[in-house]
Amino acid sequence: MLRMPRLFPSLLVARSRTRTAASWRTPISCIILAVLFLSSSGAASSAAAQKALHIFFVDVEGGQATLFVTPAGQSLLIDTGWPGNDGRDADRIVAAAKKAGIRKIDYVVITHFHSDHVGGLPQLAARIPIGTVIDHGDNRESTDAPTVQGWQAYQELLAAKKFKRLTVKPGDSLPISSTSVDGLQATAVSADGAVIDHPLPGAGQENASCNNTEAYPADQTENVRSVGTLITFGKLRILDLGDLTRDKETELVCPRNKLGAIDIYIVSHHGWSQSSSPALLNAIAPRVAIMDNGANKGGTPSVWDIIEKSPRLENLWQLHYSDEGGAAHNVAAEFIANPEGPDAGNYLELTAWPNGRFDVWNPRAAKRIHYPAR
Ligand SMILES: [Zn+2]
Repeated sequence: MLRMPRLFPSLLVARSRTRTAASWRTPISCIILAVLFLSSSGAASSAAAQKALHIFFVDVEGGQATLFVTPAGQSLLIDTGWPGNDGRDADRIVAAAKKAGIRKIDYVVITHFHSDHVGGLPQLAARIPIGTVIDHGDNRESTDAPTVQGWQAYQELLAAKKFKRLTVKPGDSLPISSTSVDGLQATAVSADGAVIDHPLPGAGQENASCNNTEAYPADQTENVRSVGTLITFGKLRILDLGDLTRDKETELVCPRNKLGAIDIYIVSHHGWSQSSSPALLNAIAPRVAIMDNGANKGGTPSVWDIIEKSPRLENLWQLHYSDEGGAAHNVAAEFIANPEGPDAGNYLELTAWPNGRFDVWNPRAAKRIHYPAR
């Protein structure tokens, strides 16, 4: 689709060289010139589009599935949604991959082994080739039956050599960094209950909001094991912490902010109250937050308030209207992919350029906002 405008003007140029100078004065030649000009403009804009990073926020009804496709066509999927439902979530991820023009997912990060994150993996692997799955290590929550089932299904896929496995620890670069030729880098900032022990480059500032931080209870589930990823693309910084809980957030941003400022925050834990502490939001101060909540999962009013009050926020976008949030704790309908009513699986898409500018697009509402570079 994007290549057409590049070929078209070159064909016209080849033909035009056979014409005499006088023939340019004919109306038909003027039309050709106009088409040539317009097509050249198209070529320029398509060249710009090709330098973009595309991120699809797939609606998996309160789980996570976020697909990154680099300008060079490398892909990274963070989580795979739920099991069951006749492969609903896998189908939605494959539909996003088709929109992005890819036929394979190079890397899948499984943040942790809860079924709203790893559950869709077998159905996804049956529908599209997967290169490598990245995890935090073995499942640590053996008392929860759905979690154990998700872990076992993952083991079966590995035994069947459906993909390679890579376990990361905090500070590791994800391999997409080494294969990507277009400036995208991904670093694990948390994994298996540990976090980075040094600030990332440019970070390390004291975080004043730590003085008022509550002592959060230590989470005992897989949530606290989440692989958190910081993605940089040119000047842009994007943060995804899976379902990391507030106790680990505190280790990441107190007393010094090891993460630095973030442009795009993929809201942890679907916007549930166990994550997104004030200390985190004041430290990362995102320009845009995108919340993968369901109608009845995540989107907690207290978290919604913390995000909305964070110091640099320009917009919060939601994958769903939150029933719990009601009129006071939901963004305007045009910022919500799936409003009240029967679910339609609508997605949000973010397009980013290396100079730091980006667009967020809500196809359901035909709403696009452009965020200029800062
Ligand atoms: Zn979750």
